Amino acid sequence: MKKIVTKSADETQSLAYDYTSKLEKGQVVCFQGDLGAGKTTFIQGILSFLGAEKPYTSPTFVIMKKYSVEHAIIKNVYHIDAYRIDDQALLELGWDEIVKDDKNLVLVEWPEKIKNSIPENSQLIKFKWVDENSRKIIFSKILNY
Ligand code: ADP
Ligand code: MG
Repeated sequence: MKKIVTKSADETQSLAYDYTSKLEKGQVVCFQGDLGAGKTTFIQGILSFLGAEKPYTSPTFVIMKKYSVEHAIIKNVYHIDAYRIDDQALLELGWDEIVKDDKNLVLVEWPEKIKNSIPENSQLIKFKWVDENSRKIIFSKILNY
């Protein structure tokens, strides 16, 4: 498990670049943390690194946003904000097909809302507010809610 404290949103995005450059095929990455902890900021770093088309708006109301990217192992990035949904609603969005395709990178904020749907080999990144400009970011592989 790796823990890092970043001192600015830019630093969190640099960390996201580094993380993205090491991603493997067909990953589901879960982002846990309170509102304002930095989940979306990190995800925007991933999207920027992959050259996804802006704007990188948070899909709070649309639930899921899809980006097509030009990358060696990633074709589509799905950014899901699960705050307002449950496992059933996720299935209706086509979840099974999305996670089955190993060219998809799936990024999920609020994974605890859709616990039963998260594959076992998913990665988990936890965010903790330290002070106004500092956030603790914890990387792990196993989901332990
Ligand atoms: P979440 O998606 O977890 O609700 P956001 O990424 O939307 O959080 O918001 C985080 C806010 O905190 C942004 O306004 C960002 O600019 C600010 N911020 C300040 N310091 C940091 C940091 N070290 N890492 C990430 N965000 C930070
Ligand atoms: Mg967010």
